[in-house]
Amino acid sequence: MAHKVTLIPGDGTGPEIMATVRKVVDATGVKIDWDVQEAGVDIMKTAGTPLPPGVLDSIRKNKVAIKGPITTPIGTGFRSVNVALRKELDLYACLRPCKSYKGVRSKYEKIDLIIVRENTEDLYAGIEWPEGAPESNEVIKLSKNKIRENSAISIKPISRFGTRRIVKFAFEHAVKAKRRKVTAVAKANIMKCTDGLFFEVAREVAKEYSGKIEYEEMLVDNMCMQLVQKPELYDVLCLPNLYGDIISDLCAGLVGGLGVAPGANIGDNIALFEAIHGSAPKYKGMNKVNPSACLLSAKMMLNHLGETDAAKRMGDAIKAIFAEGKNVTYDMKPFRDDPTAVGTSQMGNAIIKKMGEAVLA
Ligand code: NAD
Repeated sequence: MAHKVTLIPGDGTGPEIMATVRKVVDATGVKIDWDVQEAGVDIMKTAGTPLPPGVLDSIRKNKVAIKGPITTPIGTGFRSVNVALRKELDLYACLRPCKSYKGVRSKYEKIDLIIVRENTEDLYAGIEWPEGAPESNEVIKLSKNKIRENSAISIKPISRFGTRRIVKFAFEHAVKAKRRKVTAVAKANIMKCTDGLFFEVAREVAKEYSGKIEYEEMLVDNMCMQLVQKPELYDVLCLPNLYGDIISDLCAGLVGGLGVAPGANIGDNIALFEAIHGSAPKYKGMNKVNPSACLLSAKMMLNHLGETDAAKRMGDAIKAIFAEGKNVTYDMKPFRDDPTAVGTSQMGNAIIKKMGEAVLA
C-alpha cells in the first residue's frame, strides 16, 4: 500500500527543490501518495494566511510530511510558518545529523554528529514584551531593579516535562542508531534555574541508560570550542532550543555547509522533514540551488517510513554524486562561478541515473 505523505513545496527556491525531491523519491520505487499542500508567502496572497488550515489537517491525518523552505518576511506581522508548524503539531524534537561526505568541501573529515534540539521551549517560546510594555515594567519591578529601566523582556521557560521528553528522545535515538554517547549541553553555571534544571533532568534520564549509552555534560561555550577543535570526540548532542539552533548551524558548517544539512522535526505521532537552509529567494526560479539537504531529509523520511532499503539506495547514489563532483550544483564546485555546475533538476536526474546503475550492477 502507498504511504500517504504531505508535501509542502514552500516558497522561494522551495518548489523547484521539492519537485526534484519528489522525482528522486518516486524513482526509488517506494509508492508514495503525495498530498501537496501550499504554505508560505505565495499562497498568502490568495488564502490571506501563509498557513491555511488544510495544511495542518493534512499533516495530522497523514502523520508524515516533508516541506521545502518557507520565507519569513521581516516586518509583515506574521510569525514564522516553520515555527508555527512545530508548535501547532508539538514537534518537540529537532533532529539534525551532520555527516562528512567525500567530495563535499570542508576543513574537517569524518564527522558524524547528531544534534537533538528541543523545539518548543526556551527563549523561542515567543513570550516577550517590548520596552515600555506594562508586562516589561512588571518584570523590571519584580527583579528589584536588577533589570534596567526601558528594557525589552524575553522569557526563557525550561520545564521538567519538556526536558525529560527531549533527553529521552536523544537517548532512544542513540540506542536505535547504535550510538555511543549523549552529551547534554547548556550553561548551568550561569542560568542555574533553567539550564540547571535541564542538566538535573538529563542526569536522571541518563541513569535509565547507564551501561548502554554514556552520558556527559558540557557548557555551551566550551562545546563550541570543543566542536571546532576535536569534533570527533562527540556523538549525540542534546540541547535546549536556542543553543540547539546555533550549534546545529555550527555543525552544518563543519561538514560543508547548509547545502548538505538535512533535518526532521518529530513529535510523538508526527514527523516533518525539512532541510536546515532557508528559501534562498534570490535564486528563485533559476534552477540553481542544491537539492541535497532536502534529498537527505527525504532519505531520513524513507527510514522513518520503514523503507530502509530505498533510503540506503538513495543515500548511496547521493554520496556517489558528491564524490564524483561532476553533476553537482554551483555551491559544491571549487569556484562559485564554475561553468560546469549543473542545476537543481539536473543534479536530481544524475542521482536517479546513479540509482539505476546500482540496480544494474
Ligand atoms: P538561506 O538558507 O535561504 O540562505 C543563506 C545562504 O545560503 C544564501 O547565500 C543562499 O544563497 C545559500 N543557500 C541556501 N540554501 C541553499 C541551497 N540549497 N543551495 C545552495 N545555496 C543555498 O537563509 P536566509 O537568506 O537567512 O533566509 C531566507 C529566508 O528563508 C528567510 O525568510 C528565512 O526566515 C527563511 N528560512 C526558512 C527556513 C525553513 O523553511 N525551515 C530555515 C531558515 C531560513
